[in-house]
Amino acid sequence: MRMSKLFVQTLREFPSDAEVVSHKFLVKAGYIRKLTSGVYNYLPLMWRVLKKIENITREEMDKAGAQELLMPFVQPKELWEESGRWEVYGKELMRLKDRHNREMCLGPTHEEIITSIARDGLKSYKQLPVNLYQIQSKFRDEVRPRFGLLRGREFIMKDAYSFGTSQEELDKEYENMAQAYRNIFNRCGLPTKMVQSDSGAIGGSVSHEFMVITDTDAGENDVFYCDDCDYSANSNHAVSKLPKAVVDGAECGLKEKKVVDTPNTFSIDELCEFLKVPPSLICKCLVYIADSKPVLALIRGDKQVEETKLMNAVEAIEIRIATAEEIEDLMQKQGFNAARGFISPIGMKDITVIADETIKDLKNFVVGVNEQDKHMVGANLSDINIDKFVDIRLVEAGELCPQCGKPLKVTKGIEVGNIFQLGTKYSKPMNAVYLDQNGKAQPYVMGCYGIGISRTAAAAVEAHYDDWGIKWPIAIAPYHVIVVPVATNDETQMSVAEKIYKDLLEAGIEVVIDDRNERPGVKFKDADLIGFPYRITVGKTIVDGKVELVTRETGEKVEMTPEEATSKVIEFVKSALSK
Ligand code: ATP
Ligand code: MG
Repeated sequence: MRMSKLFVQTLREFPSDAEVVSHKFLVKAGYIRKLTSGVYNYLPLMWRVLKKIENITREEMDKAGAQELLMPFVQPKELWEESGRWEVYGKELMRLKDRHNREMCLGPTHEEIITSIARDGLKSYKQLPVNLYQIQSKFRDEVRPRFGLLRGREFIMKDAYSFGTSQEELDKEYENMAQAYRNIFNRCGLPTKMVQSDSGAIGGSVSHEFMVITDTDAGENDVFYCDDCDYSANSNHAVSKLPKAVVDGAECGLKEKKVVDTPNTFSIDELCEFLKVPPSLICKCLVYIADSKPVLALIRGDKQVEETKLMNAVEAIEIRIATAEEIEDLMQKQGFNAARGFISPIGMKDITVIADETIKDLKNFVVGVNEQDKHMVGANLSDINIDKFVDIRLVEAGELCPQCGKPLKVTKGIEVGNIFQLGTKYSKPMNAVYLDQNGKAQPYVMGCYGIGISRTAAAAVEAHYDDWGIKWPIAIAPYHVIVVPVATNDETQMSVAEKIYKDLLEAGIEVVIDDRNERPGVKFKDADLIGFPYRITVGKTIVDGKVELVTRETGEKVEMTPEEATSKVIEFVKSALSK
């Protein structure tokens, strides 16, 4: 490819709406252009990167025994009604009507469609297990599309779905996919961590996410991990052992149960200060709105609630902390007059009360009584009505690993893929069955496995860049090398550059020659910004028979003959691609 012909417009500035590195560089270097919020044009350079990630994914999925197909992007409402998701999938589902007023949606994911395909075609246990996948655009009307390709509304996903006859078969395919994912991300030059994650309110199911660990703002997930063993989990799923804390009020002289004045103690800190007790002795009570109904969450005063865990505990689809007005409204309905800080399960009626496991250990503790400026001290579990004890606690760094007891660490991660044991979540309601050995109809035991292809490309930029631009790993770089004649009007430089270009092309290397009549500074800047893994510069030293080979990753520059530079690049690229 000739730079003079390559369809790319690099910009002088970063786009004003870009907050993270990958968004900034992909726009500045001419890879993507925004069409509308969360929707991007993938320009030729980007499309080359995406195709490479797709092909690596495809090769590894095929090697793992999965079969590729392609399902429609537009889906009929009826299948979504069968699974029960038409009602519960929120506003992320982009719904539309056709000219006959039939309701449809744009595919955010394809469980319903694939399950209907399976039930039409997989009738006998003899045909199972099967794993089917596609690589396709998805549409989700995300609340906050941001970070360019990392969280778009339209994005490219590889989604695979497995069908089997038993949990054992699912476990095996799950491990098979985990290995395929490790291969895919390794080949993309993108180290990932496989972490346990939340799998919703479906009992007993298992899921893992593949995270690119990053210290940039682009990491939307907190990952807790242990250096001493292999434990790692997304914050929405992480658990820990707690270091020792005071959990019996008797140690602070609170043995006798009574209601005491606690004026203006709106926060845990204020209450602790006033009563001279540690926060671990307080039973904190928070009001949440779960699917538009209030619920109370109780947790030890020094700990925080993890909302996804709470959401699963009450089997809700959406959850958020209640506003001051909603709390006031609840108090009025319950016949109390207390504000945030004094809310309590004591005396409340017809409301779900979920208590974190930490509450179980408390004795002679402090709790609100739904009266302004008052708390009960010396309280015990028998004083409170609790519907369910469950772990709803947000883990914090420094708490102890649930496996080996060493302190946990926390880092940020970008989720590039996930694997999920669905079990019969879709096959049962959709009556997707096969006949077993005894001729009895059984629902398929399913798994699903996603990779964000476009998010992976952006995550690769988050993991490989410097002040000047992108440093693509060779396997997913749009081109492997750029040949830069410094002065296009110098005949020797041009003819050497053209020869290198031709030799590299013949060796199957993806090469660009910068034949533009531009200042060398402009050419070098563009080369670094776009992120070619190698640059061969043909400049003045050509009179001594030397060109310069520059490695983008390390910045290393070495002078050598044109032939040496050509064969070095061929060697480096071939060796990187064979890994
Ligand atoms: P997230 O928690 O980031 O919203 P998700 O759990 O909704 O992800 P899945 O439904 O499992 O994601 O989709 C599979 C993969 O698709 C994810 O691992 C991610 O790589 C990618 N993905 C999901 N949502 C987006 C998005 N809005 N933009 C780009 N990629 C996405
Ligand atoms: Mg999502």
